[in-house]
Amino acid sequence: MPKQCPKCRCKKFYIQDLDDSYTTYTIECVDENIVFGGGIDPQQAPVVNSDTPIFCERCSWKGALEDI
Ligand SMILES: [Zn+2]
Repeated sequence: MPKQCPKCRCKKFYIQDLDDSYTTYTIECVDENIVFGGGIDPQQAPVVNSDTPIFCERCSWKGALEDI
């Protein structure tokens, strides 16, 4: 099951690049796995762990992996 935003139920989130906050990566969380959006090489993408801030793609929600 894809996880959903607690606020708007959107299933898409994004994270910011650690070095460049203008660079973002679209993610979905399916079960316990992070699935990166189209065209992103998972080898190049930042590591997502329990303190990585995650932003909802649709609303202003921001939180951690464990919150969704
Ligand atoms: Zn949301």
